[in-house]
Amino acid sequence: MSSANPEFMRIKQSLHDFVILANEAEPDAIENIEKVNKVEIIELPIPDWSHLPIKHSFNNCYCSPDCIADLNNEKLLLRPEYQVQYSPYFKPLLYGFVRKEFVMVFDEKKDSKTLFTELSFDKTIIYQAPCGIRLGQMENVVDYLKSTKIDTLSIENFTFSLDVRPQVLAFSDKKHVICEDFSLGKEDVKIPVVNALNNEEKPNYDYRLGYYPSDEPEVLEAFEKMNNSRSCCSCTDNCLDYNICECKKNSTKKQLLNSTNKLMRYKLKTILKSSTKDASFVCNEHCKCSKTRCLNRVVHNKINIPMELFKTVNKGWGARTLVDLPRGLFVCAYTGQIITDKRSIEQIKAFGPDADKYYCWLNLDDGIGPRKSDTSIRNLDDEEETLIDRENTARFTLDAKPGGNIAAFFNHSCDPNMQVRYFTNNHDARLPTVALFTTCYVQAGQELFWDYGYEVGTVEGRIVLCSCMSPKCRGRLL
Ligand SMILES: [Zn+2]
Ligand SMILES: [Zn+2]
Ligand SMILES: [Zn+2]
Ligand SMILES: [Zn+2]
Ligand SMILES: [Zn+2]
Repeated sequence: MSSANPEFMRIKQSLHDFVILANEAEPDAIENIEKVNKVEIIELPIPDWSHLPIKHSFNNCYCSPDCIADLNNEKLLLRPEYQVQYSPYFKPLLYGFVRKEFVMVFDEKKDSKTLFTELSFDKTIIYQAPCGIRLGQMENVVDYLKSTKIDTLSIENFTFSLDVRPQVLAFSDKKHVICEDFSLGKEDVKIPVVNALNNEEKPNYDYRLGYYPSDEPEVLEAFEKMNNSRSCCSCTDNCLDYNICECKKNSTKKQLLNSTNKLMRYKLKTILKSSTKDASFVCNEHCKCSKTRCLNRVVHNKINIPMELFKTVNKGWGARTLVDLPRGLFVCAYTGQIITDKRSIEQIKAFGPDADKYYCWLNLDDGIGPRKSDTSIRNLDDEEETLIDRENTARFTLDAKPGGNIAAFFNHSCDPNMQVRYFTNNHDARLPTVALFTTCYVQAGQELFWDYGYEVGTVEGRIVLCSCMSPKCRGRLL
């Protein structure tokens, strides 16, 4: 799509542009374009492990490295269909595990007069390990990986979500792939760039992992302090125990939490329920725990979900997952340059309100919660006064414009499938990690969205219309 098409009116244009439909009576045009933009869904063949000997039954489970000893999957891994990128949940199926859906039947109520029994059914996922033992919940997986010392798998490769189809992959037509890997090898997966709509080339973007400082002395000082005074834990295990792991204990420290002082329920690497204002302390490179088995590392990991950057019909570039994702899954961190709030305001004054398009709010202690951008929303004159008050404690903003990761391309939706959460692995509450997690099951091929959290009418004279097209659309972003 481009401005050459009279059905569309381009009101803003840049990497992350917001384009609105000038004429709502053209749904057919959109439908046709959506067809061009469709991904094909394929299913990988699931390996058969029925020849493996059952080493022990369900009840006598003393698993050891012997349990996976005669598992030879070399031939399997050489098969061409498994040379593609696949779901992290497909990997155990290549390492001798069988994933099955079970139906459990319960007696719901027994009425003594009528002798009528009502049965209820509950479906569940069970993994059968290579030695025959069955793993019915994540805690079993944690124990199994530990006792067998499998180093090719981690709990990120397992999900008990009934919706997730590990063998399913979404594919875009090869002829529309304009770049094999947008991350240039920096992520654990390749991120292809796809444009099925027009001749526009891939975004010119400096792909970077993690935060990096601007040239401002306040930022450089904070980075130096952070690197030198980072606390860590001495766990030799997987950091599961709240009473032993120093990093887990740090999560309860007040300085990292907001006034509600609630601990984020961050269990076995997924978000179950939390307030947007909470932060959790996670392990860092100085911790002694295992990089693969530690259960307190996730948001500083690289992306391991196959996804692609693609040209959307009406929202510029966007990103979609190529595999099924369960609810509560860590997708990626929002990375970029750390600048002072002072510079963030200067940039808006110098380059106009669009300068904040890639800003992300960082300050934990304000209790506002993460949102895409905040600087322009506040009154600039008030802000300058506050900054003078806080001269000795510079406040920071994350700016992904000079470079960052795929997160900068996630579009806004009023009905999103991701949410942002704070994590930290240092003691500077001004530098938490902003991490994106799924809020629902996301099917392979679907676009990934989060709610930018702007408030309509908070910036005088500025109107940004929403083009998320969801039934819950609020109509305006600003
Ligand atoms: Zn075993
Ligand atoms: Zn620990
Ligand atoms: Zn640690
Ligand atoms: Zn750890
Ligand atoms: Zn909307």
